[in-house]
Order: sequence, then structure tokens, then C-alpha cells
Amino acid sequence: MADTRTLFQKIADGDIPSDMAYEDEHCFAFRDIAPQAPVHILIVPRKPVPSLNDLTEADEKLVGRLFTVARKLAVREGLAEGYRTVFNCGPAAGQTVDHIHLHLLGGRPLGWPPG
Ligand code: 5GP
Repeated sequence: MADTRTLFQKIADGDIPSDMAYEDEHCFAFRDIAPQAPVHILIVPRKPVPSLNDLTEADEKLVGRLFTVARKLAVREGLAEGYRTVFNCGPAAGQTVDHIHLHLLGGRPLGWPPG
């Protein structure tokens, strides 16, 4: 039978190795394989929502959880000077994995506007 899991579900299942930073029943977080900052962690809901465009009101609590986990990780990673959270949505914004994920970036000055 075809494996319909997303890349990030395979990471959650341990079938693809990762540097896991956080796990609970709703979401998990691991270090990005190609970090864009000294701290670059992806926070992912266990529910494989493909993109922000697929979110419904039923997902509001889940999305809120991603941000509270980001805040906890920012403290744990020592990002007291500041950090950035980003959802890329769609190819023009650079989304490459169709399973929503919140990027947590920090540990260096982050320019604005982003590229
Ligand atoms: P997007 O471009 O979709 O917003 O973010 C996807 C992110 O997933 C990228 O930053 C990319 O480096 C990361 N990524 C892709 N494949 C893997 C992988 O196998 N392991 C880890 N840890 N990160 C990955």
C-alpha cells in the first residue's frame, strides 16, 4: 500500500532521523536540516494540514499551540534578544513541504523586510 505520510509525519514516526526538540500529543518540533539561523526549529502539528489555506476554524486551538510551543522553545534556546516565527504558504512564499510548520528562527540579527 502507498505510504501517504508526509515527510514530517515520517520524521515524527522516527522513520527519518531528526534532532527532535519538543513533542506532545498535538505537535512536535525538530531542528531544520538546513538552518537559516543559529536556532532554526520547525514546529509541526501532528495533524497533516497541507497549508495555511487548508486551515479551518476547528484548527484554531492547534495553531495557537504551535505559538505557545515556539515561545517555550525560544526561552529554552536562550533567544531573549528576539526571534521570528514564520509560516510560508504556497510556492511563491517558499513552502516546500505540504504539512504546515511554524519556523522558529533566532540567534542572529534578522533583517526586515525578509527576502
Ligand atoms: P518550507 O520551505 O516548506 O517553509 O520549510 C520546509 C523546511 O523543511 C525547510 O527549511 C527545509 O530545510 C526543512 N527540511 C526539509 N527536509 C527536511 C528533513 O528531512 N529534515 C529536517 N530536519 N528538515 C527538513
